[in-house]
Amino acid sequence: MFAGSFHSRIYLGVGSVFCAVGIALLIRRFQSTLCERCWQRLHRDLKDGSEISFHCAKCDIVWTTKVFQDGC
Ligand SMILES: [Zn+2]
Repeated sequence: MFAGSFHSRIYLGVGSVFCAVGIALLIRRFQSTLCERCWQRLHRDLKDGSEISFHCAKCDIVWTTKVFQDGC
């Protein structure tokens, strides 16, 4: 059916847009965060290994997260 395939293409398109937005938000989340003490925006501390960490120079605290992006 033409109508059915047309609608499923729309849903596929909408789905992939939401997927792309979700990935973009995840990437943004992992590239910058807020220091939970002084609320200064922190950028990701790039290190070897898979742990994601953010260093606040003002508070001298390293914030880490064990959450990993596992695809869509
Ligand atoms: Zn801080």
